[in-house]
Amino acid sequence: MARVFADSGHEVDVFEKRSHIAGNCYDEYDQHGVLIHKYGPHYFRTDSEILLEYLSRFARWRSASYHVQAMIDGELVPLPISLSTLTTLTGRVFNEQELALYLQNARVGIGTSVEGQFEPKNAEEQCLVRFGTEIYQKFFLHYTAKQWGILPKDLSPSVTARIPLRYNFDQRYPEEKYQVLPSDGLTAMFKRMLFHPKIQVKINTIVGSEEIAALKLKYSLIFYTGPIDQYFNCVYGQLSYRSLYFEWKNFSFPYLWPCVQINYPNEHPYTRCVEIKHATGQLISSTTVCYEHPVRYCQDSTTEPYYPMLTQDNLQLLERYNVMVDEESVGSTPVHFVGRLAEYRYYNMDQILLKAYNLANMLV
Ligand SMILES: Cc1cc2nc3c(=O)[nH]c(=O)nc-3n(C[C@H](O)[C@H](O)[C@H](O)COP(=O)(O)OP(=O)(O)OC[C@H]3O[C@@H](n4cnc5c(N)ncnc54)[C@H](O)[C@@H]3O)c2cc1C
Repeated sequence: MARVFADSGHEVDVFEKRSHIAGNCYDEYDQHGVLIHKYGPHYFRTDSEILLEYLSRFARWRSASYHVQAMIDGELVPLPISLSTLTTLTGRVFNEQELALYLQNARVGIGTSVEGQFEPKNAEEQCLVRFGTEIYQKFFLHYTAKQWGILPKDLSPSVTARIPLRYNFDQRYPEEKYQVLPSDGLTAMFKRMLFHPKIQVKINTIVGSEEIAALKLKYSLIFYTGPIDQYFNCVYGQLSYRSLYFEWKNFSFPYLWPCVQINYPNEHPYTRCVEIKHATGQLISSTTVCYEHPVRYCQDSTTEPYYPMLTQDNLQLLERYNVMVDEESVGSTPVHFVGRLAEYRYYNMDQILLKAYNLANMLV
């Protein structure tokens, strides 16, 4: 958004509370010289040629390999659930019809709408309806419980609705047509995007609810990307988030694992181990892996708000804040709430980049 406005001749100030740009997409070289994704792995993928073309002004690309496996009963099994998964799990080759038949027998019907479609009320029902009990218990039940700190039956079905299912042997985790990364990293791409005479970036600068009135006097338009509840001083109460603790380990050999991500649904306190070198393609003799431990987010601690917790209570609270968001979008200095925290909604990078790009072009 800053770049679109600057290219149209507007002066833009960007305030960032952290000591660096690029938000959660930030990557950096660790002390061993390995390029790591500091806030969890960021696998860039998109179907949008418009977005790719725009970003290509700031990046050269490399094809990235996003393969994920899960440790199930002591064996590495490909994800997402596909013919490869069932073949590895059972030891016999599955074809399309056999997977369809397996799922047809395994699926648990829960509630039926007037149209005759299953209407899952929560994430557990969502998984049971799509995959049946065996796959749900082996792959999703404990993983989801670890990830969110609550059982799938207490989460919105939208949390697990994004889990892909494939009737082929394709083992790339995402579905999108373009699976790439900037060849010199994500931060470098955002740095070039912000490098413009009309853009001033102020890092280590928190915009709190107290600052907003003064900012409204100075600027003609504001985009807010922080947590929605904190903007309103949490007047209706706090929205909850899931946070992560990242445990890093370096090994003095080129690779630890066969692919970028290993999920551990059923053992260990961490959910997954990420070896980002598989995606960045960096040529270096050592490797750094990251174990992701889900933890509770607490506003007054060092934890970061990563994932909105889509529970009934939070969604109701969000509705109340959204009424105030609508009121902020009008007036002499409209404030637009954009992004994962400001909208309390999970976005992939390409989704939020495209949304920001379109919104900026509409308002510029
Ligand atoms: C663990 C994890 C893994 C992910 N993996 C992927 C992936 O593989 N692929 C993918 O496409 N997407 C992934 N994402 C999603 C990706 O991070 C988001 O799509 C993207 O970062 C959203 O951008 P954003 O601007 O909405 O939020 P953010 O990147 O969070 O940026 C918001 C910025 O605002 C700053 N800020 C917040 N409050 C204030 C304030 N009051 N004052 C000043 N600054 C403030 C924050 O410090 C932050 O830098 C992942 C996210 C997480 C958490």
